[in-house]
Amino acid sequence: MPEVKIIRKWVEDPQQAKIDVAMSRGYYADARRAVLEMQPDPIIEMIRSAGLRGRGGAGAPCGMKWGFMPKAPTAERPSYLICNADESEPGTYNNHELMQFDPHQLIEGMIISAYALRVRTMFIYIRGEMVLTAKVLADALAEAYAKGFLGENIFGSDFSTDLILHRGAGAYICGEETALMDSLEGRRGHPRSKPPFPAVQGLYGMPTTINNVETLCNVKHIVAHGVEWYRAMGTEKSTGTKIFSVSGHVNKPGNYEVVMGTPLMELIEIAGGVRTGHQLKAVIPGGSSMPMIPKDVCEQATLDFEGLQKCGTAVGSGGFMVFDDTTDIVQVCEVIARFYKNESCGKCVPCRIGTDFLHKIIQRITRGQGRREDIALLKGTCINLAGEKMMDSRSFCALGDAAAWPIIWGGLKHFQNEFDYWIENRQSPVGLPAGQSATL
Ligand code: SF4
Repeated sequence: MPEVKIIRKWVEDPQQAKIDVAMSRGYYADARRAVLEMQPDPIIEMIRSAGLRGRGGAGAPCGMKWGFMPKAPTAERPSYLICNADESEPGTYNNHELMQFDPHQLIEGMIISAYALRVRTMFIYIRGEMVLTAKVLADALAEAYAKGFLGENIFGSDFSTDLILHRGAGAYICGEETALMDSLEGRRGHPRSKPPFPAVQGLYGMPTTINNVETLCNVKHIVAHGVEWYRAMGTEKSTGTKIFSVSGHVNKPGNYEVVMGTPLMELIEIAGGVRTGHQLKAVIPGGSSMPMIPKDVCEQATLDFEGLQKCGTAVGSGGFMVFDDTTDIVQVCEVIARFYKNESCGKCVPCRIGTDFLHKIIQRITRGQGRREDIALLKGTCINLAGEKMMDSRSFCALGDAAAWPIIWGGLKHFQNEFDYWIENRQSPVGLPAGQSATL
């Protein structure tokens, strides 16, 4: 299956961020039609029937999530919509591209979503480091306000909605939806316990829906083209397209949009194939939280929620990292473990201590000082020897799980021989110098 361009259709045109250019391509016509000619509930039903699932990581059914929101919010108990644009998962840069080069697609998707959810105030929570992108979005919002597409009585209707751009401060944990809300409220970004879920008690204690950038962009196209059109792409349970950010040892790294269910190896071919003269060794398909899979598993995998789950990994954020035969997998694990150690918010013990412990052990191995018992120590930190959960599932939020998965279900599951080689020979199995880190 070739690359498709639906959500990414206009991102390569530098003029697309201007509202007049976007409108000349039909933008805002779908939002206008939705607000003036449709009722909110049928839009929610469309999103549910289309089978749209969240593109940010968990793959939750979007329509079901929307269905939990109140039908009649009041001034005292308003509903909120937040776009989670805190894209920070290593290897992932697809939301960034959508916002920087086609901001009106996101704004239009959010207007339609706000109308369906009866939301008076929306937020885009954008990662702090995306300075230029925040500027592009701010300009695009000003244009949309000037045209009457945001604010009071949009499109001349009796529906009013505002969209506020909020810049984060660069903490990975603020991509976790409840930590994001804490941060948006002006507090330190710490995950909250669920339940209560955001649809019941979210931002400022009010019903809140939080969706990813790519998810909200999809809303515009479902309303524009209909449920059947959308469902015709992908598989029965994974509909539509997905943008994967392909990086690493390929000839043409970049963002590529493919229909869900595309064979994994085809995406590598679309990205120019594995670096010339080398063989594929492993792929992380969904950002650093998701376990890597070796070449023979890659050859069986399809890029959809169920297909990757069957292979012991997941779509995640779509951060698709390709490793060829020059890669030292233990060094890759060291980089991943270091990232989660640095980004753990410190609220709960399994993650705060576990991430540090995992990193220390792997670093010891890649410095040529590994011990025989280190493999059992690593496994026992992720899951204990009776098979019970440790970091995995005993952490307060998904970051603790995410720190354990790539080590236990990726590196150790498929490449324990490389850990053993390091420990026995005190050197890299692919000849890389000890003590140096791989780059992701
Ligand atoms: Fe914080 Fe990690 Fe616990 Fe999540 S799992 S609350 S990031 S310490």
